[in-house]
Amino acid sequence: MTMRKRQAHDVAVIGGGIAGLTAAWHAAQTGMSVVLVEASPLFGGQVATLDRVDGFPSIAPVSGHGLAASLLEATVQSGVTLVEADVIAIEQEGALRRVATVAGAHRCRAVVVASGCRRRLLNVPHEASWAGRGLSHCVACDGGFYRGRDVLVVGGGDAAFQAAAALADICREVAVVVRGNARARRALVDRATGKANLRFIWGMEVDALLGDDGLSGVRLRDCSSGRLEEVACRGVFPLIGGIPNSAFLPMDVARTDTGHVCADDGFATTSPGIWAIGAVRDGYCGELAAAAGEAAAVIKAIAPRFRD
Ligand SMILES: Cc1cc2nc3c(=O)[nH]c(=O)nc-3n(C[C@H](O)[C@H](O)[C@H](O)COP(=O)(O)OP(=O)(O)OC[C@H]3O[C@@H](n4cnc5c(N)ncnc54)[C@H](O)[C@@H]3O)c2cc1C
Repeated sequence: MTMRKRQAHDVAVIGGGIAGLTAAWHAAQTGMSVVLVEASPLFGGQVATLDRVDGFPSIAPVSGHGLAASLLEATVQSGVTLVEADVIAIEQEGALRRVATVAGAHRCRAVVVASGCRRRLLNVPHEASWAGRGLSHCVACDGGFYRGRDVLVVGGGDAAFQAAAALADICREVAVVVRGNARARRALVDRATGKANLRFIWGMEVDALLGDDGLSGVRLRDCSSGRLEEVACRGVFPLIGGIPNSAFLPMDVARTDTGHVCADDGFATTSPGIWAIGAVRDGYCGELAAAAGEAAAVIKAIAPRFRD
C-alpha cells in the first residue's frame, strides 16, 4: 500500500449512507487510507431513522439506525477519517483528485461517489410550508404524532408500503395513494394488505394539501380523467422516490436525464479515478443489500491500483 497518508488519501468516499460506510470500511480493511465525507451529522443516509429495515439478511430484526451505528463504529475502528461537510466539487490536481467541501479540500487518488438520493417532493403549492404541520417524510420521527388519526401515504414502492404498514399499527385509518402500479416487494405488499385499517386509492395523485392551521385533508386528481376528490386526513407521508445527489460531480461524469450517474460493470464512471455506487448510480436496484454489495465490489475493483 502507498505511504502517502499525510499528503493525500488513497480513497475519498463521498456519502455516509450504507453504501459509503461499507465502502470506506472495506477500503480501510484492504489497507488503503480513507477519508469519508458526509454532509449530514446523522450517518446512515435514507435509512438512518428507520426502526425497521426489510430485505436485509438477518435472523433478528434490524433497525436502520442500529445498522448505521454499528457500521459507523466499525468504520471508525478501521481507521477511516470522518469529515462532516458538504462536497461541492471534485477537481483534478495533477495525478490526484481534490474533493472540495465548504470547509476545506481533501486530496486523494480515487473517489467513490456514494451520495445517494434526496427525497422527491409532491410538487404541490406551498409544499414547504406544510412541513411539521401535517406533512412528513419520516414515520419513525413523526408517526407518533398521528396516533389514532387518519393519515395518507403516497407512493407505490417498498418505502411507501413499509411506512403504510407501520402507520396502520398506530393510526385509525391509513389510505395509500398509488399513481400507477404497486412496485413494492411481495412481502411488503402482503404485510400492508393484511392490515384491516389500510385501504388503497389507485390511479390518483396529490393535487393540493388542504387546511388552515394544520392539515385537514388532501385534494387528489385522477391521473386519467382529471377528476378531483377530497380525502380527509391529518397527516401525509409522501414516499415517492428520490432525486440523485450528483450535481457536484465534474462535467465529464456522464449522467442520465434524471441525474443518475452512469457507471460500467466495475462501477467506474466516465471520468478516470471516479467510481459510483448505490442509489446515486443508474441501474441501482434500490435495496440496502445491493448498496453493501456494490461497496464491497467497487473496493475490490479499485484495490489493485494501490498494490506496491
Ligand atoms: C423511507 C425509506 C425506507 C426504506 N426502507 C428500506 C428497507 O427496508 N430495505 C431496503 O433494502 N431499502 C430501503 N430503502 C432504500 C434504501 O434506503 C436505499 O437503497 C439506500 O439508503 C441507499 O444507500 P446509499 O448509501 O446509496 O444512499 P443514501 O442512503 O441516500 O446515502 C447517501 C448519503 O450521502 C450523503 N450526501 C449526499 N450528497 C452529499 C454531498 N454533496 N457531500 C457529502 N455527503 C453527501 C447524504 O447525506 C447521505 O447520508 C428505504 C428508503 C426510504 C426512503
